[in-house]
Amino acid sequence: MQNTRYLIIGGSAAGIACAQTIKDNIPKADVTILSDEPDKPYFRPLIPYILTGKKTVSDISMLGSGPYTHRDLKVLTGCMASKVDTVNKIVFANTQEYPYDKLLIASGSRANIPKELEGQLCKGVFALRKLNDAREMIEILPSTKHVVMLGGGLVNLKTAFALVEIGIKVTLVVQSLEILSQIMEPQDAYLLKDAIVKSGINIITGKKAVGVIKKNNSALAVALDDQQEIPCEIVCIGKGVKPNVEFLDGSGIKVDGGVVVDRFTACNIPDIYSAGDVAVTYNPITGQKVLTGLWTNAVEMGKCAGLNMIGCPTAYAGTFGVMNATQIGGIPFVSMGTVHTKDGDFEVYTHKGRDSYRKVVFSKDGTRLIGIILISDISKAGIYRYLIREGRDITSIKDLIINHKINYASVMK
Ligand SMILES: Cc1cc2nc3c(=O)[nH]c(=O)nc-3n(C[C@H](O)[C@H](O)[C@H](O)COP(=O)(O)OP(=O)(O)OC[C@H]3O[C@@H](n4cnc5c(N)ncnc54)[C@H](O)[C@@H]3O)c2cc1C
Repeated sequence: MQNTRYLIIGGSAAGIACAQTIKDNIPKADVTILSDEPDKPYFRPLIPYILTGKKTVSDISMLGSGPYTHRDLKVLTGCMASKVDTVNKIVFANTQEYPYDKLLIASGSRANIPKELEGQLCKGVFALRKLNDAREMIEILPSTKHVVMLGGGLVNLKTAFALVEIGIKVTLVVQSLEILSQIMEPQDAYLLKDAIVKSGINIITGKKAVGVIKKNNSALAVALDDQQEIPCEIVCIGKGVKPNVEFLDGSGIKVDGGVVVDRFTACNIPDIYSAGDVAVTYNPITGQKVLTGLWTNAVEMGKCAGLNMIGCPTAYAGTFGVMNATQIGGIPFVSMGTVHTKDGDFEVYTHKGRDSYRKVVFSKDGTRLIGIILISDISKAGIYRYLIREGRDITSIKDLIINHKINYASVMK
């Protein structure tokens, strides 16, 4: 009998985790990964370090590093899937046909360009998402004095710190009144805000960019909705992401915002799975559908899809957002679960240390841990994540959680 042909669209967190899982279980499995990028798979969150020169392209390569030890993964770079024929089980890419028995869609997402900036792209305007974007940015950095970053999310903040580190002036324009508002409330973000202010990054809140002013097709300034024009050589757009699903048009694969999957990462058509930024998954606390946009979740979901594809049914436990190992200005932090508590009925405890902060959120009846913010001391994040996800009664270990004295032994009792 012919070997099962596993085909994966997208060679990043989800796609590589899936391929690795298949190979870990079936070393001789026939796995092919189609990637439209020219580069072999790399750790996307490390792109800002390429800008500072702290890391090289080979430093951030995935294959052969850490858990990705199977150097024989077949990744076809520069290979863009343009159509999926789900009846004959063929993916079309670059005029070639790739037949499959099991298919994973792990095409991720791309930067979302707000309507008011559509059609304004020119030299100097970036949405930093891929290594090639970083390469292009590096080319004009020597002649850059000022970068305006639109959006105060994590990707832009990480990039902003990288740029100030190499001596470039950065202004962050944020539409909301607070930065990081999606992952914490203003009173929780004071240590991170201090770090931003100390770094010299200039922040403008409550304003929106309405256009890019150009000369000879190069960025000259950003126009804000209050008539202000900020001169700059680079504009960096960080206004969220959009799943890459267009190539699935006409395939019959159900798309609703992203690719719709069940708890076993399976699509509506047999033998097709999806994982990572492109897939719509669910929040185990609220039950709501979510697109995650996080590396750790993409890896976990990709592994799960790999197991399902080889016939080991494995439910994906959902995602409530966790940014582990993320740093802003050298401060590591984690924000997960329900952490916006201002307008809800929750039991909340906070601990303000000199250099650290903790916010613990329990359900209204105080019996379940539903969210946590850890700033600076992110130890035990894995235990908290487990407790939030399991939704179990934590009454007997509540004091240990509040005082950050929890350990795996106390959880397993
Ligand atoms: C600068 C930056 C910093 C970040 N920092 C963090 C962080 O600190 N922590 C965190 O958790 N997350 C972070 N993220 C987000 C994280 O990188 C993503 O959540 C993660 O990469 C998603 O993985 P994925 O495999 O689902 O998709 P992606 O990484 O988006 O990869 C999908 C791949 O599929 C390719 N593709 C798309 N369409 C096709 C097609 N038709 N044919 C072939 N290939 C195709 C894409 O080009 C891409 O290579 C960061 C992202 C960026 C850009």
